[in-house]
Amino acid sequence: MTENLTIPIHETFQKTIQGEGYWAGTPVDFIRLAGCPVGCHYCDTGYADGGVGLPRQLSTFDELINELFSPRVVISGGEPFIHKQLPTLVKRIEATGRKVSIETSGCYWQDISSNIWITLSPKQHISPKYPVVPEMWKRASEIKLVIETGKELEFYSKILLANNNIPVYLQPEWYSRNLTLPLVLELLQEYPYYRLSVQLHKYLGLQ
Ligand code: SF4
Repeated sequence: MTENLTIPIHETFQKTIQGEGYWAGTPVDFIRLAGCPVGCHYCDTGYADGGVGLPRQLSTFDELINELFSPRVVISGGEPFIHKQLPTLVKRIEATGRKVSIETSGCYWQDISSNIWITLSPKQHISPKYPVVPEMWKRASEIKLVIETGKELEFYSKILLANNNIPVYLQPEWYSRNLTLPLVLELLQEYPYYRLSVQLHKYLGLQ
């Protein structure tokens, strides 16, 4: 019999699309796990202040799996890798025949199924206490840089050069998008091998 573990959830939603990065436009379900210590000031999932007041509930793996609909499931947060149960949850979802993507800031590591798509969005330029761990730089399937000032490219330049075998997305920071979208379009002229990620779900008014 499979163990029915629990995991803290911020929220889940189904039948939406992935709005960011390589899989943008793909129908997906989301599982947003609760908790993130990184404290980015522009966090759009409510963790700028550590998630004070955010809804948080323990869900069983069975509950999470029973509500899935789409062929791909995105596990985001918060920071998914802080949860020890993550690799087991991933295996349970994979056993239903679904693909899994995980979105992470990369500051924690756990050995995870090799089929998983990992979106690494480093935040060590904002929170130096939370650098990306070496395993995550090696394991990432894509890198998504949230662009706020343009200096992010300089900050990560060496590591981006070393990881030139995976796609790199420049994503305008949402709250100042009137400034950051033109900035990213300019950066793409300078760095034509990078790609634009625009948080399509927000432009479409989807969750
Ligand atoms: Fe928010 Fe992600 Fe930063 Fe955590 S790492 S505070 S979830 S943007």
